[in-house]
Parts: sequence; C-alpha cells; structure tokens
Amino acid sequence: MLKTLKRIFLRIAIATGVSSLVANSGWRRDRVLILAYHGISQADEHLWNPELYLSPGRFRERMESLKRFGAHVLPLAEALRRLAQGTLPAKAVVITFDDGNVDFYRCAYPILREYGFPATVYQTTFYSADQRPVFDVVCPYILWKAGKHNLELAPVIGRNGRFDLANEESRRDASREILHYAFENRLSAEQKDEIVTRLAVATGVDHEEIRKRRLLHLMNQQELRELVAAGVDVELHTHRHRTPDDEALFMRELADNREALHGIGQDSATQFCYPCGVHRPSYLPWLRDAGVQSATTCQPGMASRRHDTFLLPRLVDTMALSPEEFEGWLSGVSAFLPRRKTQSPETLGY
Ligand SMILES: [Zn+2]
Repeated sequence: MLKTLKRIFLRIAIATGVSSLVANSGWRRDRVLILAYHGISQADEHLWNPELYLSPGRFRERMESLKRFGAHVLPLAEALRRLAQGTLPAKAVVITFDDGNVDFYRCAYPILREYGFPATVYQTTFYSADQRPVFDVVCPYILWKAGKHNLELAPVIGRNGRFDLANEESRRDASREILHYAFENRLSAEQKDEIVTRLAVATGVDHEEIRKRRLLHLMNQQELRELVAAGVDVELHTHRHRTPDDEALFMRELADNREALHGIGQDSATQFCYPCGVHRPSYLPWLRDAGVQSATTCQPGMASRRHDTFLLPRLVDTMALSPEEFEGWLSGVSAFLPRRKTQSPETLGY
C-alpha cells in the first residue's frame, strides 16, 4: 500500500516538475547519492535473490537513467572531499559494489566502462585468494535451485531434518540449519566446501556447473590486479566478511584485508564498508585508528555534511526498485518520503 502511494506521489512529482526543482536545488547540491550494488547476474541469481542481484539488463537501465538524468557520477574519494568542501556538482552520485564478486568483472564493469562511470568495489578478500563458491550464499542458492524437492539433512550435515524446498520458509530454515552448523563447529573452508558438494548431491543440483561458471565466486587476484591497473577503486570490506566485537580481531580483519589488497596493487585503501551493514559505536574509533577515512552503511538516504563520515547512508538498489523510485532518489524527492530502515540483505561472516 505504502509502495503504491509512493509510486503515485513520485509520478505526480515528475509530471508537475517538483522532481526537477528538487534535483536542481541547493539542497540537492549539498548531497551525494551513494548507490550500493552487490551482484549482477551471470545466470539466474537475480531470480533467486532479487535483493542481492540485479539482472544485467536492469543494471544497464539504471546506468542509462543516470546518463539521461544528467547525474555527475564521481569517484568516492572525490565526492566525499567535495561534500566536505561544499563544492559538489549538481546531481552528484557515487556507484559502489560490495563484496567484489566475479560478476563485477564480467558483467558490471563492461557496462560501467561503456558509460564512463567510475566505481568503488568494497572487496572482501578471503574467497578471492581461495577460489570456491562463497559458502553463505551458495547454500541458499543450491536449495532454491533444487526446485520441488524434499531435502533430508542427515547426509549433508549428519543432523536429522526434512525440508520441503518448494516452500520458501522451509528453504530458509534448511539454509539456517546448515549455516549455523558450519558456524558453531568452526568448519574450515575445505570442510564447508564438502558440505556444498554433499548438499548439491542431495538436491540433484549440478555443483560442477556452479564451479565451472564461477557462480557466487569472488574476483580472483589476476582480475583484481587488472581492475586496479585500469583505475577501479578497490577498498576495504574486511578479509572474512565479518566485524568481530573484539578490537584485536576487528583490527586483524582490516590488516588482513589491507594485506590482500596490497597484493593486487592497491596500496592506499582507506574507505570502508560494513559487512552486512552491521555497525556499532565501538567500531568508529577502531576504524579511525586504522587510518580509515570513511565508512558506508546500508541505511537508505543521501549523504550530507550532517552525517558522520563513518556512518554514510547508501541506497541499496534492488530488482524491486521501480524506475520512478530510482529517479526519485536521483532527484532527491525520495529522501522526503517515509521508508523502512533496512540492513543489507547479506548473510553473516565466512
Ligand atoms: Zn558484503
């Protein structure tokens, strides 16, 4: 209901010129819209999780909207510097990608290059060096891919349980059981990979195909090196996609992440994005101590000088966002509409 009302309001705002007035206002010029993406589908990932993945066609439409709208797409560091100085151009936008999936290299980057838009990739690095499908996302993907199927859990993790995979809630429960089992038993990447293989066998899903096509894999070091050399801004997202509450472990995540980025030619990573959008007040001084200059969340909004540089809002773009809503955010009109406070749709740390 609220979504329908918002769409009607946005259509009226566009038709009456209110949207254009806001877009060209001094208020909008003091703000930058930071867009957040996770993945662009290589196959059917957007049908599995339309909050995490966009189809390449939809992503291209978004880039076309930015062009048509006359948005000034800036590199993140420049946008933040000019935001602080009060010298942003009109309709300022920044494009960011979380995690650094291989589909950024294969599907998103060619489109960005075509439009000449800069982008920041917040790269988590563990599964970049260790090329396997990312456990926390490949398990729910396989469960979805299985279609109409009843899953017996025992051959997968040695625990009894039967799940109807045609049912979304039951699928979510099965996924939770498996991820929780791996987490509480502190399984290694190899052990988790064995679970993935057993899960694929139990559901009749072709996991060799997933590996061969590198679905739900991160970019490897060669791909990252190439992107850094081509000027893509690759930044911090922790090594194992987690933010421990213990300071020493938190700092280790940043240090390991930095070291891995150093290995692909990025020696000056100073921008950070919270994995899963989870942030706590205790993290802020730790990030400052580590020489980090900014941190982005998944709270929807437009970044202004009023925001703490370590709590910058972003718009997480999804398949569910209509063209009017997207344009509403570009103009700034949507910032005045009521909205849900959302966290990132991502799962927990590796
Ligand atoms: Zn992430």
